[in-house]
Amino acid sequence: MTHHHTQARLLIVGPQGSGKGTQGVRIAEAFGIPAISTGDVFRAAVAAGSDLGQQVKAIIEAGDLVPDELTSAVVRERLSQGDAAGGFLLDGYPRNLGQVRDLDAFLEDRGEALDAVIELSVPRDESITRLSLRAQEQGRTDDTEEIIANRLSIYERETAPILEVYRERGIVDAVDGVGSLDEITARIVAALEARGFVRSAAA
Ligand code: ADP
Repeated sequence: MTHHHTQARLLIVGPQGSGKGTQGVRIAEAFGIPAISTGDVFRAAVAAGSDLGQQVKAIIEAGDLVPDELTSAVVRERLSQGDAAGGFLLDGYPRNLGQVRDLDAFLEDRGEALDAVIELSVPRDESITRLSLRAQEQGRTDDTEEIIANRLSIYERETAPILEVYRERGIVDAVDGVGSLDEITARIVAALEARGFVRSAAA
């Protein structure tokens, strides 16, 4: 049996409706690392009615960002669990420059750094179409037209700039997010393989 220590520390970034959540799960599976979605963590906390859930419920429903201090604390705790020691895929964090600094500091303390950032791009029209479909299918309370517009504008104002920081480090792979799910997964896998990461399972 071959042991692949891929140690991939990945981030997937894309606007709402880009499919980053779906692709994130697929990529994490392919490389044998946990997918960590802050949106999922927050929604689970809201559903469970935990302290965290009570703190973030109104913020999520408005499509605003949860404060950095709280979000970064949640991520630090999650990344400290054993399954993230050999790599991880972050989805939805960091999403502003403050969170980039928080993550850098945390990883630096562990002698680690992000290895690759997947930028998933889709035209604005396409992402809005996908979001309204998802609204019908999943009934997410933050998928109303007005709240979507708020989330997209926060993305453009606060999240897109983090890509510049990572681009300067030479770790961004831009991937076309239009196509079938399998095609897009294959594009991302190819980009990561080109960086020397080895798949641990068939995608
Ligand atoms: P989307 O990318 O479609 O907005 P997510 O599931 O990533 O969906 O996030 C849902 C919501 O959770 C966000 O609108 C925000 O309120 C909150 N959230 C998720 N990640 C973060 C983060 N890194 N910082 C602050 N708030 C976050």
